[in-house]
Amino acid sequence: AGSLQGTHNFAEEPARYYSSEPSLQETEENGFKGHSMLAPFTAGWQSTDLHPLVIERSEGSYVYDINGKKYIDALAGLWCTALEVEQSTLKIEFNGTPMEMKDLANEILSMFTAREMGKVFFTNSGSEANDSQVKLVWYYNNALGRPNKKKFIARSKSYHGSTLIAASLSGLPALHQKFDLPAPFVLHTDCPHYWRFRLSDETEEEFSTRLANNLENLILKEGPDTIAAFIAEPVMGAGGVILPPKTYFEKIQAVLEKYDILLIADEVITAFGRLGTMFGCDMYNIKPDLVSIAKEGIKAFSGSPIVGEIRGQGLILGTEFVDNKSPNDPFPAEWGVGSIFGAECEKRGMLIRVAGDSIMLSPPLIMTPEEVEEIIIKFGHALKATEERIAELK
Ligand code: PLP
Repeated sequence: AGSLQGTHNFAEEPARYYSSEPSLQETEENGFKGHSMLAPFTAGWQSTDLHPLVIERSEGSYVYDINGKKYIDALAGLWCTALEVEQSTLKIEFNGTPMEMKDLANEILSMFTAREMGKVFFTNSGSEANDSQVKLVWYYNNALGRPNKKKFIARSKSYHGSTLIAASLSGLPALHQKFDLPAPFVLHTDCPHYWRFRLSDETEEEFSTRLANNLENLILKEGPDTIAAFIAEPVMGAGGVILPPKTYFEKIQAVLEKYDILLIADEVITAFGRLGTMFGCDMYNIKPDLVSIAKEGIKAFSGSPIVGEIRGQGLILGTEFVDNKSPNDPFPAEWGVGSIFGAECEKRGMLIRVAGDSIMLSPPLIMTPEEVEEIIIKFGHALKATEERIAELK
């Protein structure tokens, strides 16, 4: 997991934002010339740390920096590589910045082509990547002397993770209730689900225009000078696999640009080919300032009376169960139709994800055609069984 940061905004203020030259990213001697990554804590974020330690290898309790200098590691990495003799490779990971990370950072940067990105910051999870985006954006606005430009706008039904900040950004009530969330600097705007939230006779394009206008009104109401960034998943995953309506990102991006608000693309599930393009940003012409990446379609099939909408792109698929195929006729929540379907799948040896009466599939990219066939067959059988169960409940 990690986050990519655009060259555009961050490189404009290198001296103030990172450190004076030479920094970890810029010197020839330490091999980090090329602006490839922001190192955690040892450099990059710390404006005073001009000569970070870069460890090349380890041997027993000793580590060696890139100049060949030997150190006894009296801290066991970060209090954690206790079995140093046996775990010499682990030790490298926790001491300074291994060279392999720089190579990986360069590779990731070269893969992301929707917009030229400047640096990679490595984290341990998607949640942590999104928390780090908030820190980074705040740091950036402080560096630019804009201490009030700190609020984040996210969308209803979005999912950005489970830590305090990532859960705040998420637009799912279950992640907020009983946790005193969202944090006060987070605002939520419309979920872009056309099938469910359109007005009668509204086209997809008109729906997108209305949502962009609502976003602009929210920004004006709060004060553009207080809004730092907007975060969005190219395709909303955990919220139910919701694809952006036509012209949505184009219109949203125009509003953000007008008010100097950064765009963060949360590509935690859409990165690395899930939608059929390398990144979701490629698919929807998104030009983000920052990107969160981590984890690495089936188009269907339904005349079923209990299926309202099937939506998907590449290898990500969402299905919504409603009565009369209408977004306005949900099944009674206590019937648990989504859960019935989930249990019917499990019975047949297939795991899917249930969220209310939405269910989601996101199979591994290595899946064979035969395995896809198996999913389709099991899906069909589970659907039939669910229809029968609903007929009984009625
Ligand atoms: N962002 C999105 C869009 C996600 O779908 C997820 C998890 O599925 C996350 C962030 C959080 O990632 P993690 O579970 O690695 O913390």
